[in-house]
Amino acid sequence: MATGYVYHEVFSWHDTGTVTGLFPSDPAVGLQPLAHFENPETKRRFHELVVVSGLIDRLTRLTARSASDEEILRIHTGDHLERIRAESELPKGGDAGDGLSPFGKGGFAIACLAAGGVIAAVDAVLDGEVENAYALVRPPGHHATAEMGMGFCLFNNLSIAAAHARHERGVERIAIVDWDVHHGNGTQSIFYEDPDTLTVSIHQDNVFPPHSGLLTERGAGAGWGSALNVPLPPGTGDDGYVHAVEQVVVPALRRFKPDLVLVACGFDAGAMDPLSRQMVTSDGYRRITRLLLDVAAETSGGKVAMSHEGGYSPAYVPFCGLALLETMAGAEPFGDPFLPIVGGFAGHPLQPHQAEAVASAAALVAEIGNRES
Ligand code: ZN
Repeated sequence: MATGYVYHEVFSWHDTGTVTGLFPSDPAVGLQPLAHFENPETKRRFHELVVVSGLIDRLTRLTARSASDEEILRIHTGDHLERIRAESELPKGGDAGDGLSPFGKGGFAIACLAAGGVIAAVDAVLDGEVENAYALVRPPGHHATAEMGMGFCLFNNLSIAAAHARHERGVERIAIVDWDVHHGNGTQSIFYEDPDTLTVSIHQDNVFPPHSGLLTERGAGAGWGSALNVPLPPGTGDDGYVHAVEQVVVPALRRFKPDLVLVACGFDAGAMDPLSRQMVTSDGYRRITRLLLDVAAETSGGKVAMSHEGGYSPAYVPFCGLALLETMAGAEPFGDPFLPIVGGFAGHPLQPHQAEAVASAAALVAEIGNRES
């Protein structure tokens, strides 16, 4: 069976405008205009490499559709939905909620298509139309909470798809693995008290949001134990990431036994990313994807759908993404011209302080599924 793939050109039309990476340009404080960090280039170039490499011929194209108000409201408040819709009508658009997440006129419709694109990927997997699926959507979603967008995210695409799977498709237990380099705070908060949704976030320790994604964040009430964080030290490379997946994600999924595995897939732990200090190569992404697919085959009949989150190196994201998609599709590697350089960085072997960080998270796996007493 094939791998499903969602992409729509309009995702590149989500307009984050001319800012200075993060902040509105302002000569008074020295902020010269520049593209927003979350601009179309990384995702557009990823898609184009999927086409130019020929991998597209191995994939099953899935059509994105717009998520409905009802689907979005399973996760988000009416206030948030209506504010995004209203600001989307303004000539210069609006901001998702934190002042760092601008969107242009018409951004609401694009955000609905991104969320619906992930739903389409999940449906195709649940229908058995494809073995697994990747939704290359934009804007991203994992920082968005029920009440607000933040961190370049408008709606929490993957959470909306998870709620669809549960409410419309009868899927009971869902695991959401987030390997974007930033903490999947929005997703975690949405399912914090839900014992049937396991959230596991592997991220660089304390990057974004500040002071978020700590080991001590474990879920609450009936959901205690179903949130798990793996904060990794800066400078973690391929072996450190593989170790984290082997020691935490694999046993967590074996213990939780999900019916469906969703992945919030960012490529900003990549070795050339400007917004993190990690060193993962295309080979590292290939290895963690293999591990994830293997454990999902064991626990969940191989049902895996991934949603694209961050990744800010226009040169390198396409090669990391291609390696991941090739692994999902069982295709031969096209190659990564950067690998001889980034793969040769010092520090790829597991370092003792990284092993220590992973061990601290791994110790919590035994409590998944337990209830607060
Ligand atoms: Zn990120």
